[in-house]
Amino acid sequence: MEKIRMTTPLVEMDGDEMTRILWKWIKEILIEPYVDLKTEYYDLGLKERDNTDDKVTVESANATLKYGVAVKCATITPNAQRMTEYNLKKMYKSPNGTIRAILDGTVFRAPILVDGITPYIPTWKKPIVIARHAYGDIYKAVDGLAGAGKAEIVYTDREGNQARQTIFDFNGDGVVMAMHNTDKSIESFARACFNYALDVKLPLWFSTKDTISKVYDGNFKAIFNRLYEEEYKEKFEKAGIDYMYTLIDDVVARIVRSEGGIVWACKNYDGDVMSDMVATAYGSLAMMTSVLVSPEGIYEYEAAHGTVTRHYYKYMKGEETSTNPVATIFAWTGALKKRGELDDIPELVAFGERLEKATIETIEAGEMTGDLVGLFKKEGVTPKKLNSKDFLKAIATRI
Ligand code: NAP
Ligand code: MG
Repeated sequence: MEKIRMTTPLVEMDGDEMTRILWKWIKEILIEPYVDLKTEYYDLGLKERDNTDDKVTVESANATLKYGVAVKCATITPNAQRMTEYNLKKMYKSPNGTIRAILDGTVFRAPILVDGITPYIPTWKKPIVIARHAYGDIYKAVDGLAGAGKAEIVYTDREGNQARQTIFDFNGDGVVMAMHNTDKSIESFARACFNYALDVKLPLWFSTKDTISKVYDGNFKAIFNRLYEEEYKEKFEKAGIDYMYTLIDDVVARIVRSEGGIVWACKNYDGDVMSDMVATAYGSLAMMTSVLVSPEGIYEYEAAHGTVTRHYYKYMKGEETSTNPVATIFAWTGALKKRGELDDIPELVAFGERLEKATIETIEAGEMTGDLVGLFKKEGVTPKKLNSKDFLKAIATRI
């Protein structure tokens, strides 16, 4: 069989621990036999980030701006324990944070649904896609400790005029925080959400807490409403989908009662928290995909989970592991399909679809990794636990 040719390279961002092992196997077993894989490789493994003073992360993000599509393996965000474990020069920032700041994108997380795995909320029949604003708020905040005294916030405009507000007059110890966002980033977040909803033809819900945060969250609400009225209303009506704004607590209640099939746009922190809740409710964090979409239409695909450290330590001791590679496979298929779309290579798109179908069919036939075995219930099918490599081989027989 002749391999599928690619014209533009994918930006490949390698990562850490168990997902780094899976990464190599996925390429060897599921992709390279069928695709003449063209990538520009960046090693974001923690060792190489340390060797390059984290320049490699910035370079990989810049390459993504250049080529338009990237696929990323999970990476360690160093903490104190990792400083010793890897003997690091510095406690580097989260690579995802660095990449998001450069691409200024919105992260969409969608569950992979399989017949036989019922969500913990059984009314959820269709995916709930969480769109997380990936810029600002507490992730770019300034915070500090306070003692007795007055904490103030001062804004100085370009002419030197100042506006001053008291945050709190402390009588004793406490904490303060100041955060920001920009209209430009909120606008691109809104556009990314409207475009994504139109792309997948699902209604869009947006939520904040503007009853409490009247100016800050109120600004998010106003920008979404304005762009909807000015640019998207007609397109939504034509596509037969709606846009709804409501309070975050109201959406939480509605989501639980819904049957899914919604794109839920969330502010940065809400998206961080809610996506873990939604992912778990669908069954497993290992079945959640994630894509960062920039306002210029640049895409970075990854799995939503981390490097699965506990499994890696077992693997290093020579023990067998049954780590779920599905979300990482879907990161690859997402990136290959997008590359195929942009470069007009229908065979590449078709291959991505075939690989996704083969992966789902393998699980539905009862062959899966350990995390799914306890969740799987389908008449006439007895789930069988495979180790990671055998699971990948089982998928390969179905491509
Ligand atoms: P994690 O790697 O997502 O794993 C947490 C637990 O979830 C695992 O111990 C495992 O449970 C289960 N799990 C997650 N993915 C799985 C998979 N593919 N197959 C089977 N089980 C899976 O989160 P973490 O342990 O909190 O973080 C580990 C490292 O990942 C950290 O250094 C963190 O900085 C990094 N991280 C990176 C990203 C990213 O790059 N996007 C995201 C999150 C975390 P059991 O142990 O019960 O089997
Ligand atoms: Mg989170």
